[in-house]
Amino acid sequence: MNSELRLDPLTGRWVVIAYERSARPSSFLDRDKNIQKDSINGCPFCPGHEEDTPPALVTYSEQGHWLLRVVPNKYPAFTGNEPMVAITKGPVFTTAPASGIHEVIILSPDHNLDWSELSDEQVKLIMRGMRDRIAAHRDSQVIRYSQALVNSGREAGASLEHPHGQLLATSFVPREITDELAGFSRFLGGCLLCATLEAEEAIADRTVMTDADTVTVSPFWASQPYEMLIIPKNHGEHLHRASFSELDSIAVSIKRVLGALRSQLGDIAYNLVFHSSPYRDHGRFHWHVHILPKLTTRAGFELGTGVMINIISPEKAAAELRRSLEHQA
Ligand SMILES: [Zn+2]
Ligand SMILES: [Zn+2]
Ligand SMILES: [Zn+2]
Repeated sequence: MNSELRLDPLTGRWVVIAYERSARPSSFLDRDKNIQKDSINGCPFCPGHEEDTPPALVTYSEQGHWLLRVVPNKYPAFTGNEPMVAITKGPVFTTAPASGIHEVIILSPDHNLDWSELSDEQVKLIMRGMRDRIAAHRDSQVIRYSQALVNSGREAGASLEHPHGQLLATSFVPREITDELAGFSRFLGGCLLCATLEAEEAIADRTVMTDADTVTVSPFWASQPYEMLIIPKNHGEHLHRASFSELDSIAVSIKRVLGALRSQLGDIAYNLVFHSSPYRDHGRFHWHVHILPKLTTRAGFELGTGVMINIISPEKAAAELRRSLEHQA
């Protein structure tokens, strides 16, 4: 049975009821048992187990060995290409087909290497693969938006430990994106993130690293400890239209700042969220990447109010991460 969208009329947010995703396997055992690394046997993402995933949509190889694979998710949250039509089933019950695409991007053949431990060439390849798939999703008539992400670690929502990311393409523009679009529209001083870049670079307190193409900051408004935002210096709405040089810079910046984060805090769980403009939107947007270390849990107050309490200031977090990067260099 395919997934279904249901509208929460209290918040205006769509919810996906995914009937089949509870059947998916998990390689994560209880943290208490502390034997996570056992799951390498039979990992569907390791070389030699290619038959355990649906056939690859794209494979990047070198000398007969694959380096990166993108495969359809075996347990998709979004599938099919019915157009987005909301159906009213009663005064408060609104549903729609959960059309879309759900893919897995296997970040490397190596089961044990985090993004921060891969070679520069490999992380650059990940961004190329992501760009190619996001560009391909655009061809589908029903797709409005593609979300690329990496969940690393069980606490961040990963169900398998082999490093992988996901690409979810939806027939509607999700609320988080319409909220950000509204932020861009509210800001009257040109592009909100171009202005952020300029202001953060001038102060430098919250800058974690910078190179020719991107700036990584722990933003002024960071809502959780060590949260980071990577902003391309060149204004562009879409990730899939970014230059190779920008994508390379994003890839390597993620690697370096995750390395700094891990040397500071250990092998922590984290989420990477890639935000790009909806495909057919010609409003204001500036694509960017959120790095969200999973160090705290949203508790009652945060869930009840949406107000986040950050116990480490972004100025302190950025200073620590900068120091850690200096040690790496
Ligand atoms: Zn594996
Ligand atoms: Zn901009
Ligand atoms: Zn964003």
